[in-house]
Amino acid sequence: MSSNPYPLGLRLHGRRVVVVGGGAVATRRVPALLDAGADVLLVAPELTPALRARADAGRLHWVPRRFVPEDLDGAWLVQVAVDDPMAAASVSAVAAERRIFCVRADDRTAATAWTPAVTRHGPVTVAVLGGGDPRRAMTVRDAIRDLLAVRVAPDGIAGRPDASTGTTGGRQAGRVALVGAGPGDPELITVKGWRLLTEADVVVADRLVPGLLLDELRPDVELVDASKIPYGPSRAQEEINQILVDRALAGAFVVRLKGGDPYVFGRGGEELLACAAAGVPVTVVPGVTSSIAAPAAAGIPVTHRGVAHEFTVVSGHLAPDAPASLVRWDALAGLHGTLVILMGLKNLAAITATLIAHGRSPQTPAAVVQEATTGTQRVLRSTLGEVAADALTADLRPPAVVVVGDVVGALDG
Ligand code: SAH
Repeated sequence: MSSNPYPLGLRLHGRRVVVVGGGAVATRRVPALLDAGADVLLVAPELTPALRARADAGRLHWVPRRFVPEDLDGAWLVQVAVDDPMAAASVSAVAAERRIFCVRADDRTAATAWTPAVTRHGPVTVAVLGGGDPRRAMTVRDAIRDLLAVRVAPDGIAGRPDASTGTTGGRQAGRVALVGAGPGDPELITVKGWRLLTEADVVVADRLVPGLLLDELRPDVELVDASKIPYGPSRAQEEINQILVDRALAGAFVVRLKGGDPYVFGRGGEELLACAAAGVPVTVVPGVTSSIAAPAAAGIPVTHRGVAHEFTVVSGHLAPDAPASLVRWDALAGLHGTLVILMGLKNLAAITATLIAHGRSPQTPAAVVQEATTGTQRVLRSTLGEVAADALTADLRPPAVVVVGDVVGALDG
């Protein structure tokens, strides 16, 4: 093909798009069409289970038969996703007759439109056409995606609604995102969390946040180390809330970066309420929580078929007999499933003794995972009866997760 394609962003919301074929190609193409809000008509005698599920859920219309020309009535675009070249050619002939653009998976040279390789970065969509070579398009797309994800994106490209928003402007309304940073490995932040981090004017980070994530921030980003705030824990929390609110009201985009998931023993709820009370818009981006990831990093699944049908995550920061404790340790002792204890090292002897006193067997397998998913991860395997003493002997330190239950060892060969 000698002439260049002309790129377009099709706004398909509510518009009929016909997909012919119900196999692997259609399975890959349909989600982006649905994401664009297209009114998808799928013409195919049979569907893959994934497409079938979308049809059953009413997300698209399915006509379970072969293509007929009337299927293109009212269509703006057609995607041919069948292997049979004769069938594909007949669809594209009808499309051409009706001046409907036609994408063909089987024969790009016969197509009147090409689908680009795509990467999405918030509101920005980058589409790459490789001059008829899909592999080249994907290679270029991957390079651009890496650039947008790893290099810090400049204002505007990163997708802030208004690139003039600054920490000192004061006129533009700011906002706060509570972002889960994951358990320790900097690669375990979510894609969305990472994108927001690259867009932040101010980052307020916890002690448990992976340091490498902070390494990559733009030099002009204000970094507030929340663990360095003096005063006791409750006063420090008030200080943090105030910093979030003040910076946002001054127009900044503030990312509150928290270890694991913001809502798992992370006081994310208090920060959300403080922002809401001040009229500051807040979004929450969940994170990979250490309560699941730390056991996983030690080869322990929190559930396993035939072994555990439940897992309970509990904070051990208060001793079982502490008046302020909200945990029914006696009830937990009666469960068969997995018990995951966070912040429990200090009180481990009292916790394990209480569980045993209320009936959990001292032979129950137990493990401690310290600094999970980091280069300094340590794993201790023991039993409920011995784990507190073993952890002391091994000099295990926080942050550490304690796992109790038969899942410890479930994957051991
Ligand atoms: N919001 C966090 C938990 C905060 S409470 C989350 O969802 O993971 C802090 C406790 O989490 C620590 O005392 C420890 O029990 C656990 N923790 C956090 N990161 C950890 C890690 N990398 N390895 C082991 N335990 C971790």
